[in-house]
Amino acid sequence: MLKVTGLKVAYGGIQAVKGASFEVHEGELVSLIGANGAGKSTTLKAVTGLQPVAAGDIEFLGKSIKGQGAWDLVKQGLVMVPEGRGTFTRMTITENLQMGAFIRNDKEIDDDIEKVFAIFPRLKERRNQLAGTMSGGEQQMLAMGRALMTRPKVLLLDEPSMGLSPIMVDKIFEVVNDIHGRGVTVMLVEQNASRALQLATRGYVMDSGEITMTGDGKTLLNDPKVRAAYLGE
Ligand code: ATP
Repeated sequence: MLKVTGLKVAYGGIQAVKGASFEVHEGELVSLIGANGAGKSTTLKAVTGLQPVAAGDIEFLGKSIKGQGAWDLVKQGLVMVPEGRGTFTRMTITENLQMGAFIRNDKEIDDDIEKVFAIFPRLKERRNQLAGTMSGGEQQMLAMGRALMTRPKVLLLDEPSMGLSPIMVDKIFEVVNDIHGRGVTVMLVEQNASRALQLATRGYVMDSGEITMTGDGKTLLNDPKVRAAYLGE
């Protein structure tokens, strides 16, 4: 579904991504792990049209999407939940979910809100609460729910567990697994390498702007180099 070849991204003179190549196939959950500053978020931003591409190509559903804006890509089904979430704080949960459907013009929006509530019962309980008064974990759930309302073909998640309590981290990974289990193709960027690789069909390791390793989730999880560098062993 998504094929990235030789991606380079720079901020002024700083090369943040130095020729990364990876693929996400239909139905997969692909995890991209790496240390702070490795270039993972920059990669997602470039793929979703939020950061200009200096070199390389990005194909989505067999066509190059390089240079297309985020808005066009969301309409095509390439949807990211950014780090920091960005919910509409002065709107209720339900209104935030309705905003997620703003690109749609069909009659199934209310049904889809119910489906999101089935994945996130907490959002259902709080449906009339203002998003800005929710906890960090609840806002992460809301951002994921809102993204699901666009009916994504590929859902890209940037560090969904960041800054959350251990219980909420468990809950978020459970939900990522659930969303994948419901047939959504997922690309997951995480610093929590252990959890991200446990769920992954395949994974990539990024180091200093380059993809340095790839393999299926379990193989990477058991790799001594990965365990030493990213799992503190
Ligand atoms: P983290 O997990 O800490 O978010 P990351 O792997 O997602 O790390 P990026 O955020 O993509 O890494 O950052 C890659 C490099 O690009 C870092 O050296 C960072 O300082 C730099 N960088 C990121 N955003 C900008 C920016 N807006 N302007 C300048 N440099 C940036």
